[in-house]
Amino acid sequence: FARRLHKTVRKLLPDCEIRFIRSEDGSGKGAAMVTAVAYRLAAQHKARQKILDALKLSHEQLLEVKQRMRMEMENGLGKETHAEATVKMLPTYVCSTPDGTEKGDFLALDLGGTNFRVLLVRVRNGMRRGVEMHNKIYSIPVEIMQGTGEELFDHIVHCISDFLEYMGMKGVSLPLGFTFSFPCQQNNLDEGILLKWTKGFKATGCEGEDVVNLLKEAIHRREEFDLDVVAVVNDTVGTMMTCGYEDPYCEVGLIVGTGSNACYMEEMRNVELVDGEEGRMCVNMEWGAFGDSGCLDDIRTEFDLAVDELSLNPGKQRFEKMISGMYLGEIVRNILMDFTKRGLLFRGRISERLKTRGIFETKFLSQIESDCLALLQVRSILQHLGLESTCDDSIIVKEVCTVVARRAAQLCGAGMAAVVDKIRENRGLDFLKVTVGVDGTLYKLHPHFSTVMHETVKQLSPKCDVSFLQSEDGSG
Ligand code: ADP
Ligand code: MG
Repeated sequence: FARRLHKTVRKLLPDCEIRFIRSEDGSGKGAAMVTAVAYRLAAQHKARQKILDALKLSHEQLLEVKQRMRMEMENGLGKETHAEATVKMLPTYVCSTPDGTEKGDFLALDLGGTNFRVLLVRVRNGMRRGVEMHNKIYSIPVEIMQGTGEELFDHIVHCISDFLEYMGMKGVSLPLGFTFSFPCQQNNLDEGILLKWTKGFKATGCEGEDVVNLLKEAIHRREEFDLDVVAVVNDTVGTMMTCGYEDPYCEVGLIVGTGSNACYMEEMRNVELVDGEEGRMCVNMEWGAFGDSGCLDDIRTEFDLAVDELSLNPGKQRFEKMISGMYLGEIVRNILMDFTKRGLLFRGRISERLKTRGIFETKFLSQIESDCLALLQVRSILQHLGLESTCDDSIIVKEVCTVVARRAAQLCGAGMAAVVDKIRENRGLDFLKVTVGVDGTLYKLHPHFSTVMHETVKQLSPKCDVSFLQSEDGSG
C-alpha cells in the first residue's frame, strides 16, 4: 500500500520532492507537539509584548511629561535659571505676526535639515494679496556638513550665486532672511550665535559664532555680490509666521521633520532675558533638548539609549531623538535587532543588512503603516531591505512601527499641551482658542502621527481648543 501510494503521489507531482516519514504515535505525541508550539508562540508573544510595553505610555505618564516640559520652560525663561536650563526658550526678536499688508521681494535661505534651498519670495498685499515663491534645492554633501565652517559657508554662497544667475538676477540686491534651524542665541533679529549643531551637522568653527557674520565673510571672500541680511529665523518661527498670514489665531509653530522643535508667542514680562514688559515675543523653545537634564530617563528605553549613543551628539536632544524623522527608523531597527537576537523574529537570524545603521528609514514607518498596504507589501518592503520574512514576521514589524510612531506622536502632543496651556494661563483665560502652524515631512506624510498627536493634546489640555494648520513651506 505504502509503495503504491508513494509512487502515485510522485507521479502526479513530478516537480516536487516528497519524503514520507512514519510517525510514531502521532496522536499522542502530536497533541503534546501542538501544545508545545502554542506554548512557544505564546511565550514569544509575551516576551515581545513585555519589551514593547516599555514604549507604551499611560495617560498619567503623558501628563507627567507635560508637567515636566512646563517646568523646563520656566527654567529656560528665567534669568537665574536660564544658563543651566536644557530647554533654552530663546528670544527671537519676532514680536508681531503678519497683518496682511506686507509686500516686497525677498531672498530667503533655508538651512537646517535634509535640503538646503535658496528662494525668491514675492509678497503682495491688497487685491492680489499672497505669496509667490521660486526656489532651488541644493544638496550639502556630508563632507561639507561635517567639514570646516568656511567650507560650509563658501558652499552656501556658491549656491546663492548659482540661484541669482538661474533667476537672471545677478547684481540685484534684495533683503535676505536666513532660516537657520539650529539653536541660536539672538540679541537682535539680524544676529544668531550658534549654540550647538544638531541633526547631523558638525562643521567646525561655527559654534559660538554669529552665523550672519559667517555668511557675510563668505560673501566677501567671493567678491561677487552683496546682500542685506535682515533676519535670522528659526524654521519653527517661519512656520508660525506663514500660518499666521492665513490665520490670526496662529501663535504657535511646530516642526516634526528631520528634527523636532516648537515656538510660541510668550508675554514679554516672562521673557526675562530681554528687557521690557510690554507686549509679546516669539520664543524658540528648542524643545528637542528636553530630557537632556535626565528628566525623561524613566521613560527612555534601552533602544533610545542605543540610538543616542551612536548619534553625532550623544546625550543631547533626547526628546527630539524619541520623536523625529532622523531617529524613528533607527529605534525600530534596534527593536527588530533585539527581537531577532532573542529568537523572537526572523527565525532568530540576524542579517548583515539589519545590522546596518540607517537602513530602516522613517519613510518605511509610513509605508508599513498605511492602511491600504496588505501584509504582503510589508513583506516586500522588508525584502527590499534584504530581510527574509514570514507572514508572522511582517505582522510583528508592523506592530513595532505602530508602537514607535504612536509614542513619538504622544510625546509631541504632551509637549504641545504644555505650550498651549501656558499661553492660556499667561492670559488668565478659562478657555483658549489657538492655532498651531505645523511643518515637517513626518507630520505631513505619516498616516497616523497627526491624528494621535491631536488626540493627545485634546486629552492633556481640555481647556484649549487647538487647531492645526499645515504650513506650505514655512521655512522658505
Ligand atoms: P527638514 O526637517 O529637514 O527640513 P523634512 O520636513 O522634509 O525636512 O523632514 C525630513 C525627514 O522626514 C527625514 O528625516 C525623513 O526621515 C522623514 N521622512 C521622509 N519621508 C517620510 C515619510 N514618507 N514618512 C515619514 N517621515 C518621512
Ligand atoms: Mg524643514
